[in-house]
Amino acid sequence: MRQGRSLAMSLLVLLAALLSWPAQAAPTSNVSVCLLRIPAGANIALLGDNPAGLDCRSHQTELGSGNFLAVLKFAPIRASADDPLVLRTTSSWQDGTRIRFHYADGSTAEIAYSSRSAAPWLTIGAIFEYAVPWKPVALDHITIVAQKAANLRGVVNGAELLTRNQSTLLKMRMAGLYAGFAGLALALVVYNLALWAAMRYRFQLLYCAMVAMLGAYTFTSSGTAMALFPALANNDRLRLNYVLLALSGAAALQFIRHFFEPEILGSRLRWSINIASVFAITAGVGFALCAPAGMRVLDTLYFVAMGGLLLHVPPILLAAWRGRSHYFWMFVVAWSAPVFTSVLRVLHGFDLLGYSFWLDNGNLIATSLEALLSSIMVTLRLRELTRDREDAIANEQLARRLAGTDPLTGLLNRRAFIDLAVGRKGRHRLMLVDIDHFKAINDRFGHDTGDEVLRTVAQIIQKCRPPGSLAVRLGGEEFAMLVPDRVAVECSPESLLRTVRDHPMPLDADITVSIGFADGAVTDEEGWKRLYRIADGALLRAKADGRDRACRATDFRVVA
Ligand code: GH3
Ligand code: MG
Ligand code: MG
Repeated sequence: MRQGRSLAMSLLVLLAALLSWPAQAAPTSNVSVCLLRIPAGANIALLGDNPAGLDCRSHQTELGSGNFLAVLKFAPIRASADDPLVLRTTSSWQDGTRIRFHYADGSTAEIAYSSRSAAPWLTIGAIFEYAVPWKPVALDHITIVAQKAANLRGVVNGAELLTRNQSTLLKMRMAGLYAGFAGLALALVVYNLALWAAMRYRFQLLYCAMVAMLGAYTFTSSGTAMALFPALANNDRLRLNYVLLALSGAAALQFIRHFFEPEILGSRLRWSINIASVFAITAGVGFALCAPAGMRVLDTLYFVAMGGLLLHVPPILLAAWRGRSHYFWMFVVAWSAPVFTSVLRVLHGFDLLGYSFWLDNGNLIATSLEALLSSIMVTLRLRELTRDREDAIANEQLARRLAGTDPLTGLLNRRAFIDLAVGRKGRHRLMLVDIDHFKAINDRFGHDTGDEVLRTVAQIIQKCRPPGSLAVRLGGEEFAMLVPDRVAVECSPESLLRTVRDHPMPLDADITVSIGFADGAVTDEEGWKRLYRIADGALLRAKADGRDRACRATDFRVVA
């Protein structure tokens, strides 16, 4: 119940945070992109800004990979000198980029860089942002020449013109989002690693791996990686993204596989999960190592592999539901958002869904949500596992106790008694108690009544037993008590005799016992044997002297 409430609270806080996220700053202008695939050997300078064959209608990806001229058209904008314009586009695979701003007076300004020198323009969220040099005239249009563009998802994606102030605001919000996630990821990894050190469940490590990979992906995709390592080529950064996302997807699925109770997922499903994980990692690493060679095929393989990971979610859900897993609903709540956004991304990967801001960043928000909820889920699972462990320990203790107990009377049995007795420090009194003429009682009243008598006598002994002493049924109708010397007065042989004599017995049978007792040390086996021998001698003497009496042994008598 308490978990339910804290879960609802976390959800509310997150929801409030998301709702309070103001709408994205409206682009200053609608930017449309027209594209021309530049034939090999063509002179770009001669193409002009409106060459024949400029395609404004087709989907960019339909034009394949190669060199491109992109013309960005919009209603001319005159920016103020205090708040000039910036152009933003999303990052994509290309070797070189040259951007030319064209102003209303015919003048131009240019920015050019290669994949290896892209760092200064990459900003948070893997967005390229270019300051448009300010001129006292309107900006008319922009041309971009992209060299060796892979055009897997487009050549110029998400192009928008904002003022610098608008962009600053946007970047601050993005920084908040990424920093929040980075902090969350770090905290989750550290605390789950610490928990793993204590509990050693494999799913804890897999959870850490998943969060760590997502954290690393945040690092490379936020632009922070290139700010810290400016020599990193943007294309290499993209390679890293493929690997990191494949690793986090595989880790997530493996985490789920090991998280559910072992009987929930069948062996076929577990095998299939393993194969899908290996396939995803191979596809991610394969892309990173081989691109740009075979890039299109590798990219498709990668998205097939990621889709393959996602395809395991429905059967896992079904198995968890059928197996009545305690975590079914938790799982649904925690994972639906990231699964949903991942499905959208895979659809985007197959070009079935266009680019959008939320598509690019929704993953981060969904994953933060998932990470928070999963950490609650992990805590619940750990609580259950801890309870199982405690139960197992308690059962073992119970089993051990039962193994040392006489089933009829509940007193210790001979073996447990000797284990506990030998080695005790200080002087002890050993009292051997034997029921008189018990055979006759069995004969007269039947074996069951005999058993009742044994139980009653055992209860009397148990009640008389001072704290710190041991009571045992040595076998048949023979009992014993080992009492530390200092408390021996609390249960004298005489009082025990009296109590047995006066205690109501089954079928009103007259029951008496004979007691032989001796004082001595039981610190070792020898001492114990000696003490037992002389007490037994005393018991024989009590029987011989007429029964229903206690006889004390002395060392002298036994020696004699
Ligand atoms: P004494 O006064 O000399 O001790 O005579 P006794 O009859 O008590 O001694 P004996 O050793 O001759 O007989 C013990 C009897 O205890 C024999 C056996 O059938 C009975 N007995 C042993 N274990 C059990 C048990 O678990 N239940 C019952 N009902 N009887 C038992
Ligand atoms: Mg007897
Ligand atoms: Mg006997």
